[in-house]
Amino acid sequence: MKLLFCKSCQDVVALRLTARSCFCGESGGQYIDNTNAKFWGKKAILFGFNNGSLNIALYEQNTLGDRDDSYGRRFEAFIIPEKAPSVKKVENAVTEAVFHNDPFKWPLQGIIEALAEAEADGARSLAKEKRSSSGSAKPRKAGKAKGDVQARID
Ligand SMILES: [Zn+2]
Repeated sequence: MKLLFCKSCQDVVALRLTARSCFCGESGGQYIDNTNAKFWGKKAILFGFNNGSLNIALYEQNTLGDRDDSYGRRFEAFIIPEKAPSVKKVENAVTEAVFHNDPFKWPLQGIIEALAEAEADGARSLAKEKRSSSGSAKPRKAGKAKGDVQARID
């Protein structure tokens, strides 16, 4: 389950198949289908509720009632990374979104984005070479690959 959070007005709005906005109107978003969602606004962040843990908490609350220790039943929530395959940050409500997991549209979009990224990487490494040309060259550390997404979000 995806929810829109606006850093400006602190509003949280569940996404639907029609566009919805936060209280102040700076952020918005909508589902495109059962899985994919687009969102917009400089202050917009998407939250994800882990459906499995939410359903367990709802089931337990429904069948067992309040916990004896007066703590609330917990479920997992997380910030959905902008590079998650099922979300796309767009300019505004009418911008079409192409998702990484769209088998028909993504290959072409992927090539375009990879070329843009390679160009940016080339410019960065050229700048690095210039800076390090007088000093000692250190081997590049193998870090987390760009584009890695930690968790799959549905
Ligand atoms: Zn807002």
